[in-house]
Amino acid sequence: MPSRLEQLEHTVAAHPSLPREAVVKEDLLRTGIAFGPEALRLAERFKKKAYFIFSFDLVPLAAMPQGEHWHAPEELWLEGGGWEFRPTVVSVRLNPASPYRVEAQEGEAVLLLEGEELAQVKFPPVPEYYTRALASGKRVIEIAPTIEWGYLVYLTVFRICQYWGDQEECQFCDINENYRQQTKAGRPYTGVKSVEEILEALEIIAATDSASRAYTITGGSVTSRLKGQSEVEFYAAYAEAIEQRFPHRWIGKMVAQALPPEEARRFKDAGIKIYHPNYEVWDARLFRQFCPGKDRYVGREEWMRRILQAAEIFGPACVIPNFVAGIEMARPHGFERVEDAIRSTAEGLQFFMSRGVSPRFTTWCPEPLTTLGKANPDGAPLEYHCRLLETWRDTHAHYGLPAPPGYGDPGLGRAVFSVSSFMDVISPAAPPPPVLLA
Ligand code: SF4
Repeated sequence: MPSRLEQLEHTVAAHPSLPREAVVKEDLLRTGIAFGPEALRLAERFKKKAYFIFSFDLVPLAAMPQGEHWHAPEELWLEGGGWEFRPTVVSVRLNPASPYRVEAQEGEAVLLLEGEELAQVKFPPVPEYYTRALASGKRVIEIAPTIEWGYLVYLTVFRICQYWGDQEECQFCDINENYRQQTKAGRPYTGVKSVEEILEALEIIAATDSASRAYTITGGSVTSRLKGQSEVEFYAAYAEAIEQRFPHRWIGKMVAQALPPEEARRFKDAGIKIYHPNYEVWDARLFRQFCPGKDRYVGREEWMRRILQAAEIFGPACVIPNFVAGIEMARPHGFERVEDAIRSTAEGLQFFMSRGVSPRFTTWCPEPLTTLGKANPDGAPLEYHCRLLETWRDTHAHYGLPAPPGYGDPGLGRAVFSVSSFMDVISPAAPPPPVLLA
């Protein structure tokens, strides 16, 4: 059995058109990262993991021997080192048993795989607004954390999903379990953030920060009413308030269900520029299996139809549905062979990209409190993730599409999107279209 390092070297060699930084990034995201005690101490002075929506960890909080969840940084900046990394930003997904370890060497953090140094590590600086609190005492890190090295303000305004239990929750998603474990662990974690506290937090960010360029409004689905409001009413209220108070300050992005066009238009009218009606998985059988609530309330065909209808409202480049890369290989229902999984996902990419819509993906984190994570603790094979990167990049280039807007600069060494490598493999010569702020 080859060592993990040998497997990685073999995979890098088998995919010469991919930057090896992207291969390592995908492997880190699917495997998670362990921290040595001294590295955790070094990280203490930097921007910590805010648990901005899901756990994005490979073990439950209760299984963190060093209380890593209180100390680990939000992201890593990998550069230089033994593999001469060009700058690469990767989200921290904790796994104390991971073969990838961040350790301190002579007072500096490095990334090791089975003892081999891959890259030097920088931790994200603490922004001024993270030292501030709202009048209520709630901290900005809880109400309006930032990710992607400070580019994106992440507003999870509803930390729970009304798809509830085995028969409704998406089987890869731990939003509800994560809410339970965070509150049990004593982390301040507001279930429903008020419009007023979002505005107050953004006021502090606007006054102290110049790095953030976009915000995302997101949270669980609303299938009945929340505070007397439907899903579109609830989420649009935040966008309206933000755009009235801070016109054109950030690019507004909205993650919500695929809503009927007249409802999606309300987001546009509120000032939202980019809409993310996430379809999660392309294959029809797996959509029904893995997203039972979405399938029952909306239905897969209708979901895809609404994505295209939204493209007429926002413009195709500004509708960016996400899928969870790797779940199509989850046992026992997923594809067994990488080529079959890629063929299915490529079909979805063709379907959308030929119409000017660029789906993007989050690399699957097999969280242990989810149905799919329990059955698939190792996630999908690295080979799948490499083939997907190639397929996504080549299909995107084939249709001559611009880099998806709202993610910062594309290209290796410049991209800051941290939960998959799709931005790292886009040519820097394909800049995003200008997203009109007026
Ligand atoms: S709709 Fe699915 S993916 Fe989205 S928050 Fe609810 S359970 Fe999670």
